[in-house]
Amino acid sequence: MHPHGATGPLVAALDIGGTKIAGALVDAEGQLLTKALRPTPATEDGESVLRAVTDVLDELRAVPQWPATIAVGIGSAGPVDALHGTVSPVNVPGWREFPLVSRVSQAVGGLPVALTGDGVAMTAAEHWQGAARGYDNALCMVVSTGVGGGLVLGGALVPGPTGNAGHIGHISVDLDGDLCPCGSRGCVERIASGPNIARSALGGGWQPPAGVAATAAAVADAARAGDRVALAAFDRAAQALAAGIAATATLVEIQVAVVGGGVANAGPVLFDPLREHLSRYATLSFAAGVEVVPAKLGTDAGLVGAAAAAAESLRLEGFTSAP
Ligand SMILES: [Zn+2]
Repeated sequence: MHPHGATGPLVAALDIGGTKIAGALVDAEGQLLTKALRPTPATEDGESVLRAVTDVLDELRAVPQWPATIAVGIGSAGPVDALHGTVSPVNVPGWREFPLVSRVSQAVGGLPVALTGDGVAMTAAEHWQGAARGYDNALCMVVSTGVGGGLVLGGALVPGPTGNAGHIGHISVDLDGDLCPCGSRGCVERIASGPNIARSALGGGWQPPAGVAATAAAVADAARAGDRVALAAFDRAAQALAAGIAATATLVEIQVAVVGGGVANAGPVLFDPLREHLSRYATLSFAAGVEVVPAKLGTDAGLVGAAAAAAESLRLEGFTSAP
């Protein structure tokens, strides 16, 4: 018998991003029973993107354990509007205020569907299974192509009315800084995202080795080898992240900041200057001493988190993350 045989309720989780749409059946222990994956036809019309979602759902529905599914949890690239059940992902132009919740509900025979932003989903995952486990007050962030995040306060996930709360990437930390695609200036993301770390290093005269793409990972390699421009690019990103974390700690009193995403894979090249800058920005007694730790869950965080966030918002019985 399968170790996770149909012994308890399951949540069908969807993780929707600009490049891929992933799905899984998740049990009450956070284990993934089965996974399905489709590329996101991001440049196509809304119905074609939806078809990729329903293809993923059809694959999940074909699994023998599907009848134990009691709800669907969606974590989507934002902005999302959980209040109205719509999504408008920046990188999926075919979806603008697209009624994803009702369309997914139709596709699964009317099961309850909960929608949240991907930053909030990642936070739910880290709180349930990862580095924020055991903390009642945490900021979790994803630093990769963009910078996202989410909050746990008083032991509960705080998605906000529309599912976007904790979006630390678009806090301004440089008052007259570079224009951000969001319309503001000097956002954390404009300084600390992977592409912006690479941009900063290139602007300082750094060049990747022949045949290597100019990515944040390549800048991290150079920084580890002692390249001063590469080190400065990571230091600047770390400073922006530290200012955002300090602002969050000062506003709502967090105990831990969990940092995940591709840029966090740089390790000490990012985390050492981050902790150093944080000690300079988070100075008041109640904000000082915030721990900064790497995220624990990898690529499955979005799926685990979509299930956890659904369990919490729908108050699903039998799921360990339900309050
Ligand atoms: Zn911005």
